[in-house]
Amino acid sequence: MATHLIIVESPAKVKTIKKFLGKGYKIEASLGHIRDLPTKELGVTEGEEFLPTYVIIPGKEKVVNKLQKIAAKVGNIYLAPDPDREGEAIAWHIAEVIKQKNSNFLRIQFNEITKRAVLEALNNPRSLDEKLFNSQQARRILDRLVGYKISPLLWKKVQRGLSAGRVQSVALRLLVEREKERYSFQPQEYWVFKALLKKSEYELQADLVKISNKKAKITNEKQASELKDYLAKQQFILHKIEQKQQKRNPKPPFITSTLQQEANIRFNFSASRTMSIAQRLYEGVDLGEKGTIALITYMRTDSVRIAPEAQKLAREWIKKTLGSKYCPPKAKKYKTKSTAQDAHEAIRPVDPTLTPEEIRAYLPADQFKLYKLIWERFIASQMTSATILATIFHIQAGKTLWQTKGEQIAFPGFLKIYSPGKIKENLLPNLTEGTNFNLEKLDIKQKFTQPPARYSEATLVKKMEELGIGRPSTYATIISTLLARKYALLEEKQLIPTELGMSVCDLLIQHFPKLLDVNFTAKMEEELDKIAIGEKDWQEVLREFAKEFYPTLEAAQKEMRSLKNGEQTEIKCSKCGNPMLVKFGKNGPFLACSNYPKCKNTSNFKRTENGEIVLIKPEEQPPKIVGKCPKCGNPVVEKKARTGARFLACSNYPKCNYTASYSTKVPCPEQGCDGELVERSTKKGKIFYACSNYPKCKFAVWNYPVAQKCPKCGFSILVKKESKARGEYLACPVKGCRYWEKIE
Ligand SMILES: [Zn+2]
Ligand SMILES: [Zn+2]
Ligand SMILES: [Zn+2]
Ligand SMILES: [Zn+2]
Repeated sequence: MATHLIIVESPAKVKTIKKFLGKGYKIEASLGHIRDLPTKELGVTEGEEFLPTYVIIPGKEKVVNKLQKIAAKVGNIYLAPDPDREGEAIAWHIAEVIKQKNSNFLRIQFNEITKRAVLEALNNPRSLDEKLFNSQQARRILDRLVGYKISPLLWKKVQRGLSAGRVQSVALRLLVEREKERYSFQPQEYWVFKALLKKSEYELQADLVKISNKKAKITNEKQASELKDYLAKQQFILHKIEQKQQKRNPKPPFITSTLQQEANIRFNFSASRTMSIAQRLYEGVDLGEKGTIALITYMRTDSVRIAPEAQKLAREWIKKTLGSKYCPPKAKKYKTKSTAQDAHEAIRPVDPTLTPEEIRAYLPADQFKLYKLIWERFIASQMTSATILATIFHIQAGKTLWQTKGEQIAFPGFLKIYSPGKIKENLLPNLTEGTNFNLEKLDIKQKFTQPPARYSEATLVKKMEELGIGRPSTYATIISTLLARKYALLEEKQLIPTELGMSVCDLLIQHFPKLLDVNFTAKMEEELDKIAIGEKDWQEVLREFAKEFYPTLEAAQKEMRSLKNGEQTEIKCSKCGNPMLVKFGKNGPFLACSNYPKCKNTSNFKRTENGEIVLIKPEEQPPKIVGKCPKCGNPVVEKKARTGARFLACSNYPKCNYTASYSTKVPCPEQGCDGELVERSTKKGKIFYACSNYPKCKFAVWNYPVAQKCPKCGFSILVKKESKARGEYLACPVKGCRYWEKIE
């Protein structure tokens, strides 16, 4: 019998598949793509047709040679990259480079890497699908045209090395528009009233909801204090008890976007980290004596479809392990969004009966967390709904109405396995209607409405999915590209557009309105989907795009204003009074005088919450006198070491050589140590604060310490930090204690 060759992308997949098959198969990995467009030139013909020229990716020659050599000696070649357009393209390129040696290719694909799925695929191979490949090529060429044509324009007009991307620019626009909404946001004052009520030994807290039968709205201090006086004279009465049974349904199993969102919310994983962990789980993980086993189905999908066999296994597991009341009589069905390509299944455990605990010992922490999340979500999706018993006390005090709500789980259903945000049971005391309460305390707080929140990775993925921009295969890359290009930064889980990102976005919106249009981009995604199912010709789609793109490109080349000369601000130069300009330098944006080169004044700046530019004040210039020299009696001044740390020195230097460390006066938190924390800097110029008893005591922190006890863990110091999202704040330096508070 002739030997056959199976080609996959990754060595992990090779290991997983190997043990299913006998000696008749050789399995090799292509290590991802082997061919792509060249990096040094456009690589696409422009005109009536947009035809790509592919080259072997530098460094991949060895792999190609090896595959060619083996191909010449085998019977069939089964191309088995991932089951999507990208995988089809990898298969196509492999076929192209080995067809001279052997052209008996067959394409096989599997949604889960199990023995059954692999054997079934080998028994039902198909030929390569040109439609899927063309859809991938069209995306590649669109992105290439946008990147290669617009980037040089940005180099000329803004800064060298910048680049523009097709879908990323639209995602950036979402971030920028949100930031501008925040700038123009006007906070509204409102007051919140809570009442602590008591009846014999029972205590409860109620929220003010209505005044004179209208939604309670207290907008200033005068109204608040009037209401306070009014309430002091009222009797609080339990006016009505309302009881409701609420059903809570499980969520459908994961698709790419929901998995990325949930892993970001729960574990703070970035979308790309989630995808790379999921890829490992899909390709196979070493489970000791069980060998290498694939744990989840393919992770790039927008379908919630479930294979009937997997559903059957899940239902049996639920009945056997949890009891039949946790398994609905009829299997749950979920509806996939109509725009989705239903080629795949939901992301689910390959073997629903393999619990996370059984394999915990073999998995690195990240893989375990993600498998557990996927497993729980899938099992829960096949379980019965939960029944929550809600009790609401409607309490009246004169013309005001108050509410307090209790929740009790009557039947946990799927919550037994998967409870996002864990429902807190909260029982109300057993009281009857008409009960009178004593008002123990009124809790009155002044509040302000908050501006719309910045996007997190989770909410941006959700938004992109809603708008139809990006696809399961692209969400993660879009976000990581925005961060890598410094168009946005990630702080405290928030995606914040940078000064550069905002300026580039404005320029692109002005000159490429179509390209930056959400609907246009969403329509383009649909066109690519249509190419994949043969409803649209890929060259046709590219031609239509070009008809729009080239004229706008030409106009932009002529008309785009240059930011190299800076953008004017309201700030006046402190030296000559001319307006200052925002310019982009190697180390980010800065302010420079518009009277350059006559005036060379520059300054750093930041933006306020309203988006106004303000200067960051440079350190005080004249030397600070901080005491008398113990050696000679002359003033001691503060100085800066070459590496940046402050220290104290006698002003009579070099006659007197007295020096001392710059002390924060904060006692060292190490038990039994009588040192103080003093400022130091590393050889590379990073400042830190270390114990003055060094080397006897090795305590040190990176941030400026203050002698304030952590209210959470009791550690004796906190440190000062600053971030764009939080402003200035104090944080506990103890690892794992996440305590922080704002500096007012
Ligand atoms: Zn000036
Ligand atoms: Zn001195
Ligand atoms: Zn110490
Ligand atoms: Zn702490």
